[in-house]
Amino acid sequence: MSAESLNPREIALQQFEKAADIMKLDPGLKEILSKPKIQVTVSVPVEMDDGSVKVFTGHRVIYNIARGPGKGGIRFHPAVTLDEVTALAEWMTWKTAVVNIPFGGAKGGIAVDPSKLSVGEIERLTRRYTAEIIKIIGPEEDVPAPDVNTGPREMAWIMDTYSMHIGRTENAVVTGKPGVLGGSRGRPEATGRGVYYVAMRAAEHKGINLVGAKIAIQGFGNVGSHAALFLHEHGAKIVAVSDATGAVFAKGDRIDIPTLFEKVQETKSVVKAAAGMSDVEIVENVKEGNLRVLTADVDILIPAALENSITSDIMKDIKAQVIIEAANGPTTPVAEEYLVSKGKLIVPDIYANAGGVTVSYFEWVQNRQGFYWTLEEVRERLKIIMDQSFDDIVRMMNEYDVPMREAAYILAISRVAEVTRMRGLYA
Ligand code: GLU
Repeated sequence: MSAESLNPREIALQQFEKAADIMKLDPGLKEILSKPKIQVTVSVPVEMDDGSVKVFTGHRVIYNIARGPGKGGIRFHPAVTLDEVTALAEWMTWKTAVVNIPFGGAKGGIAVDPSKLSVGEIERLTRRYTAEIIKIIGPEEDVPAPDVNTGPREMAWIMDTYSMHIGRTENAVVTGKPGVLGGSRGRPEATGRGVYYVAMRAAEHKGINLVGAKIAIQGFGNVGSHAALFLHEHGAKIVAVSDATGAVFAKGDRIDIPTLFEKVQETKSVVKAAAGMSDVEIVENVKEGNLRVLTADVDILIPAALENSITSDIMKDIKAQVIIEAANGPTTPVAEEYLVSKGKLIVPDIYANAGGVTVSYFEWVQNRQGFYWTLEEVRERLKIIMDQSFDDIVRMMNEYDVPMREAAYILAISRVAEVTRMRGLYA
């Protein structure tokens, strides 16, 4: 086991401080920006189907609202802690600033394994959690969205619970809703599509031809599966994928991603989905499959699962030249330093997976205007923002002579710091 810290809050702070020091951020601003604005922890009692009562612990952290309302997803996962949610809320703050959309950063989570709950239990959990945090969320205050193990269904319940409390229908309180409730076209695919746009730019930057490039993807949830689909359509070869049930490897040239994608929608498992497919090797041992995906002999590695996938334990075995962080916090600072010293390009999470929150912003704008865009408009505008941000980050890389994460942080921190300085301190 490695001795490095795997606490996401410590890692997020370390990343912030490193960039803040390089850019010589004013000490007062550094102090302000290293602290969350609001941290709320709530007990969420739920009546289970068998009549018993269970109390779950939930959190919502609004890290910063200097540039606009809090923004960030809600995750349902057994490993959720206040430290993790705070780190994720901090990362959202930099993410919205990197892509220059008028939001701050926030995040929520409940420590729960939803696969062990019935739909009714998940609904009661979601609604009661919403009621517990209702004072701090709102279209102008803090706007939740999907994250790990939550999606349009949960967003519909949050939107309904909030609307019932205020006595009118308010759909701009959450993003990532079903289309009929005001969800934006292209929102479910948005993070994965953004990762695809990022891959185009990153490959070009590294002199790799994305058509024919070999890619491994860790995580085949909403983000990993959509990224795989778009990259496959583009002509890239996805040769290895994994999820919480195991891994699948191409025996031939590439995995038939459209077929795998379709089957995963029903089976929720890459192992089950690949069962009837030809030309694939299936690894049911989750640990072994995961390790083989992360260390596969590929050009591009896309971690699209949870934090701390790429640690000092495996850093020396990573073969990919480009790592695109579709997940939040997948690479530890120790592993990053090593990989960067080997000339690898790590495209940081706060930019790489910002496609999701960018289309969330589009959804919020459409909800407030009551005027809805076509899928083509969403895709075009997303591409413009992702491309512009890539150019902005590369400019910072050149200006400060730093790797991509520090450059993205400097860009983001300077934007949040500028408004904070200009607004001044209310006393
Ligand atoms: N949960 C996603 C993220 O980590 C999306 C957040 C949002 O759309 O607000 O970026």
